[in-house]
Amino acid sequence: MDQGKMQVAEFTGIERIQLIEKDIPKPGPGEILIKVKAAGVCGTDAHIIKGESSSTPPVVLGHEYAGKVVELGEGVTNAHHGDGISVDPNMFCHTCYYCHLGKSHLCQHLTALGVNIDGGFAEYALVPATQAHLLPPNMSLEAGAFIEPVACCLRGIEQAMIQPGDEVAILGGGPIGLILLQLATIAGGRVTISEPVQSKWVMAKELGALQTVAPGDLAPDTFDVVIEAAGVKAAVEQSITIARRGGSIVWFGVSPQGLKAAIEPHEVFRKELRISGSFINPHTHARAIKLVGSGAVKVEPLISHRFPLKAIKEALEIHSSGAASKVIIIPE
Ligand SMILES: [Zn+2]
Ligand SMILES: [Zn+2]
Repeated sequence: MDQGKMQVAEFTGIERIQLIEKDIPKPGPGEILIKVKAAGVCGTDAHIIKGESSSTPPVVLGHEYAGKVVELGEGVTNAHHGDGISVDPNMFCHTCYYCHLGKSHLCQHLTALGVNIDGGFAEYALVPATQAHLLPPNMSLEAGAFIEPVACCLRGIEQAMIQPGDEVAILGGGPIGLILLQLATIAGGRVTISEPVQSKWVMAKELGALQTVAPGDLAPDTFDVVIEAAGVKAAVEQSITIARRGGSIVWFGVSPQGLKAAIEPHEVFRKELRISGSFINPHTHARAIKLVGSGAVKVEPLISHRFPLKAIKEALEIHSSGAASKVIIIPE
């Protein structure tokens, strides 16, 4: 790499990702330049690339990333050269109805690093200081790349309203299901993981699942809390049938836009179910750092593949194949 140049993986339109060389940007006032050390590949990246989720190309994707501070713009006081930083990618307008209501994560003008503004699939990235969270010195930057998904899962756990002793079903044993498993256990839930791929059961057991089952083996009317973490029709539909009377359901998994599911409203009435969505990470990023930093939530065992930036296409393919757990890009 020439001095002053960097490689980035730029998304230019549906199914098009290309590696290009760009100038390393200069941080402006209130901005931090980081050297990206780890960036997770997320289902949202895959949805964007397929055109199933909106973004504003050309843009560098990757919204789950961490790096080391290399340069500070004017006026930045919350970080220093060499600090490890986790990025909260979601940015709000602070002026719309929802922002004024204190529900800024529902902002009508939400923008996100790695979706609308250049993100983490790059050697260097500009991060507004408002979006930078300091990592404890003992935390690896690979773990730092998990803070965003853990923060989103914390929102899901808030929505689930788990009481100690509740029977909790998590539908899906991917990396998100396994983060939710650990958080639900901390909240006092007794967790069953439903996952069709049996090879994923071992890790679920190691991370605290009391039971691991195939989706077909879940009995109706069994769970106080059901968290759908796959974003697939069958699991969304099953969440209603396996919930107990008075149960709470969270549809956490990101379904493709336009997906329709067959729900029997009478069942929601009869069982007095509470169904909730869960969107991004409102004020949960700092708690996610504490939980991962203390080892209460284990994320490094979830990494199944590491790729250099130049193998971004291969990384995305492995991610989409369903064979991987968490795929991480290590830019250097
Ligand atoms: Zn994500
Ligand atoms: Zn707003």
